[in-house]
Amino acid sequence: MSLERPRLPHEIRHWFGDMECDYVYTLGIAGEKFYAGLKEGRIIGSKCPSCGAIWVPPSLYCPECFEETSEWVEVPDEGTVYTFTVAYVGPDGEPLEEPEVYALIVLDGANGGLLHKLGEVRPEEAYIGMRVKAVWAPEGERKGAITDIKYFRPVE
Ligand SMILES: [Zn+2]
Repeated sequence: MSLERPRLPHEIRHWFGDMECDYVYTLGIAGEKFYAGLKEGRIIGSKCPSCGAIWVPPSLYCPECFEETSEWVEVPDEGTVYTFTVAYVGPDGEPLEEPEVYALIVLDGANGGLLHKLGEVRPEEAYIGMRVKAVWAPEGERKGAITDIKYFRPVE
């Protein structure tokens, strides 16, 4: 038995190819609450009984004090841009016709944040601290997905 360790990647046996991998991703209890809420046009967070923080997206445990959250609460669909980035290429590396702005949005009264697209705003107009509001997909078209919110638009 050799105790030598390979030091160079090409010394390790490898092969190229595709590996099919089917899986089912479960949302979990908090995820189900959150996405079911989106379908109804509501943003649901979880409230910590110990420190009172409301987490969006909801979590079964408070990330601050590790207490089990006990209450589902609706939060406003309005918030503040915490940070943002401008995308010039799509998910497959294809150049986008128009750049898209993605932001981490902290909803009013909530902790955590939602990653979502900004709309009705040019990239050079976006800024940290910008007030934004959700633009919802029409009621009959919502599927219980993050795309039930089409984007967040600036508010005065
Ligand atoms: Zn807490």
